Amino acid sequence: ESGISSPVDGRSRRTSDSTKESIHYVLIVGVSGVGKSSLIESFRTICGMEATENDRPIIKVTFNGKREEIIFVEEANVGEVTDLDKFSAILTIYTPNDRQSFLQAYSTMKSVRNEFPQLPIICAANKRDLVRNRVIPERKGKEAAQKFQAKHAEVSALLSLKITDLLTAVVQQCHLSGKRERL
Ligand code: GDP
Repeated sequence: ESGISSPVDGRSRRTSDSTKESIHYVLIVGVSGVGKSSLIESFRTICGMEATENDRPIIKVTFNGKREEIIFVEEANVGEVTDLDKFSAILTIYTPNDRQSFLQAYSTMKSVRNEFPQLPIICAANKRDLVRNRVIPERKGKEAAQKFQAKHAEVSALLSLKITDLLTAVVQQCHLSGKRERL
């Protein structure tokens, strides 16, 4: 892993005037109820953003000394998205206790990878706290992600488990994609 400054202290370090802010769009996709909104809320919390501060799903972080703004766009189905290439990264979410959500994440990764071989994909299994009802083993999620050259993580928005790692991966992938808008 590269020398990343943790997204956690993102906002407090936005003081260096020498760096410009970049904007990235990230598509967050997954069936209803997997926790898309909860994850965005968790990202905002670890970045120190108040719930009321901004209604738009935006987070601000510092990555390798550069200010980055990430705008999340939520969709239940990637098939609804016509302008996939405007996104810096795709974050696909499933829950390990819902097979249908996993199958959908799988087909999302498959179609994105077919259409855009270079577009970064991060596949996250949310609700790791509910492992007692697990139907998708972690290994299966990892294998699927590997097949489509995606990053994989199991997280819990509820318990704030691995949320910083997940956000770090998202920012890192955005950075790699280089598809950023200069302000
Ligand atoms: P969305 O439809 O994908 O945006 O899902 P939501 O963010 O609205 O979450 C759906 C439900 O799952 C809500 O009741 C959340 O409180 C719950 N939820 C979200 N994340 C977690 C988690 O990590 N663990 C558990 N147990 N519940 C969660």
